[in-house]
Amino acid sequence: MALERTLAIIKPDAVGRNVVGQIISRAEEEGLSVAAIKFLKLSRDQASKFYHVHRKKKFFASLVSYMCEGPIVVMVLEGESAILCWRSAMGATDPAQAEMGTIRQSFGQNVERNSVHGSDSLKAASFEISCFFESRELTERMGLTSS
Ligand code: UDP
Ligand code: MG
Repeated sequence: MALERTLAIIKPDAVGRNVVGQIISRAEEEGLSVAAIKFLKLSRDQASKFYHVHRKKKFFASLVSYMCEGPIVVMVLEGESAILCWRSAMGATDPAQAEMGTIRQSFGQNVERNSVHGSDSLKAASFEISCFFESRELTERMGLTSS
């Protein structure tokens, strides 16, 4: 077990349906802490850069449009095994396949409009956090140094 940080996003569909507080509560119930948080609207350039690993996928253009359609919440979540912990709390990419009680099962609408994002590795978390936060914006509430 290790203290980690992960990048979480509450996507436009969930912000639009006013479930921001419920989703943040799920993170806290899992033992994760919000270390940094912003409410913003992505530009197409920002969304394309954030999802560059998917640039060749057939869903890429639609994904970028969806992520730019309305405001989102970006958060750094911190805690023991935060990356896996948040991925487990989110559930499978497709809400129809997601385990009962997961965030995507509870709030997701379809495989694209699935309410939340979470980094899938330490390397991805580091890149994704740097897309939205400078190191000085990250608190050190659990003793992790900024990086
Ligand atoms: N996505 C989609 N169609 C697909 C797979 C993914 O629209 O067939 C969207 C969905 O919003 C997903 C995002 O692209 O969350 C990134 O896909 P990834 O495979 O990385 O899933 P995740 O890591 O978010 O579970
Ligand atoms: Mg992913």
